[in-house]
Amino acid sequence: MGKVYLVGAGPGDIGLITVKGLQCLKKADVVIYDRLVNTEFLDYARKDAEVLYVGKESKNHSVPQDKINELILDKARQGKYVVRLKGGDPYVFGRGGEEAEYLCDNNVEFEVVPGITSAIGGLCYAGIPITHRNYASSFNIITGHLKNDKNIDIDWSTVAKDNGTLVFLMSIGNIKEIVKGLLSNGKDENTPIAFVSWASTYKQKKVISTLKEAVEIVERKEIQSPALFVVGEVVKLSDKLDFNIRKPLYKRTVIITRNRKQNGIFREKLEKLGARVVEVSTIDIKTNIDSEEHLIREVKLLKSSEVSKTAVENKKKAIAFTSCNAVGSFFEIIRSNRVDIREISDVDIFSIGRHTSSELEKYGIYNYIESDEYTGNGLANTINNYYKAKKDDLGYYYDNDYIGNIKREIEILYPCSNIATNNFESKLDDFIRVNRIEVYTNDIEPKYRDGLIDVLTSEDSPYITFSSSSAVKNTLNLLGNEYRDLLHKTKIISIGRQTSSTISENNLIVYREAKCPSIDSMIEAILEAENER
Ligand code: SAH
Repeated sequence: MGKVYLVGAGPGDIGLITVKGLQCLKKADVVIYDRLVNTEFLDYARKDAEVLYVGKESKNHSVPQDKINELILDKARQGKYVVRLKGGDPYVFGRGGEEAEYLCDNNVEFEVVPGITSAIGGLCYAGIPITHRNYASSFNIITGHLKNDKNIDIDWSTVAKDNGTLVFLMSIGNIKEIVKGLLSNGKDENTPIAFVSWASTYKQKKVISTLKEAVEIVERKEIQSPALFVVGEVVKLSDKLDFNIRKPLYKRTVIITRNRKQNGIFREKLEKLGARVVEVSTIDIKTNIDSEEHLIREVKLLKSSEVSKTAVENKKKAIAFTSCNAVGSFFEIIRSNRVDIREISDVDIFSIGRHTSSELEKYGIYNYIESDEYTGNGLANTINNYYKAKKDDLGYYYDNDYIGNIKREIEILYPCSNIATNNFESKLDDFIRVNRIEVYTNDIEPKYRDGLIDVLTSEDSPYITFSSSSAVKNTLNLLGNEYRDLLHKTKIISIGRQTSSTISENNLIVYREAKCPSIDSMIEAILEAENER
């Protein structure tokens, strides 16, 4: 027998799940989720987990509750670790109580992980504190759903007299009956009210008014389900306490196209600024196992890089890194093959820019030479100049005749991707030879295609960031000829000159280019653009 966890996912924002809830989700064999659950949670499930949707289907029929119960039971009986992920708190109108009872009756082990209910957390995201000493010393969370399709099971005379905050869930369809129930039992028609739909998500919408206007607001379709309907004096605080509208990127969408592994910080920073972030991993980065043997062999040769003026066959050796992924895969291979780090202790290490350099620092490499400019060209110049300047020290590089007629070369190990272009290699002086090893592969990830097309069609001029030429090319490939024109309605933010050229070569317009090649600088470019709006 397996075990079932009824987990509350919170109102929408994926940051609002509990630590325990997330732990369960990461472990689950089976995840069964509802319509109001943010599907981004599913990214946290194991890759091999079975993920089942039981919300409304395309024809708007929900899976009946008894079928859901049977499904959960069935999976548990197969010995599975089941997570039943529910919006908000499982026990607040989510029929979580019924599911738990059913499991108990069938002798299935279960636990409930509470969640933040939309009735409290959703209001909070709209600037409405559910209680406040000056306005409300109690609250009532009420379902607006009809019981047995007849009427709402509420004693209106009691509710209407309640001076605390009233929060109605599932109220939009029955708003007339709710408002009538309140007004006809003495509630003041000027009582402040708010509707908040899709609370805590990028689609959040808030309408503030008074009780007498409530029905009309719904009839004019100013607000739609899922929404909270709040009645009470606390609504007055909603503008003052709305922390979201004050964020500089509130209601803005930023699409980030990068390797998913690297997106964490970028996403976090943008979200802190209030943006809706859509990650489109156009790139599937994998360390290229086929290159391992080659790389290890070459790395072991690096140690003999000390050049003796007499040894004909010796070459000065170096390594050039042009991306974080190259650094990551290089060291992954080195480590998994237990190659001692001192093998590269005397080797010159070049980095294309700040970002790649910080990645090197993670592996304890600080003594690197960083390119003056974040382009293949820039890196080639930096390398050329570096060895030119060393000419007097080393003598032999430039002057083939320095010691007899011995021609010396510098050999640069270049760990790169399978689609790295040649523009760095071809700009090096001819005594510098590049030993290219494709340590990682960079393939398109088609599963993001639909998501990207969806955002591009539904959003009004979102920002899209490109942090490499390959991200541009991959995005275009991902969209294909049919959809690539959708990029014309975006505001394109480029990380630097080379990426910008690729963008222009593809007949797209760079809206802003980052001043230096970093995430922070791309964010600054977006903020600057916003200031000018
Ligand atoms: N267990 C959930 C409620 C489920 S009932 C909870 O604790 O929040 C479904 C109703 O919840 C919806 O009809 C809507 O009224 C409300 N709701 C859930 N999430 C919401 C959200 N993000 N914004 C507004 N209302 C929401």
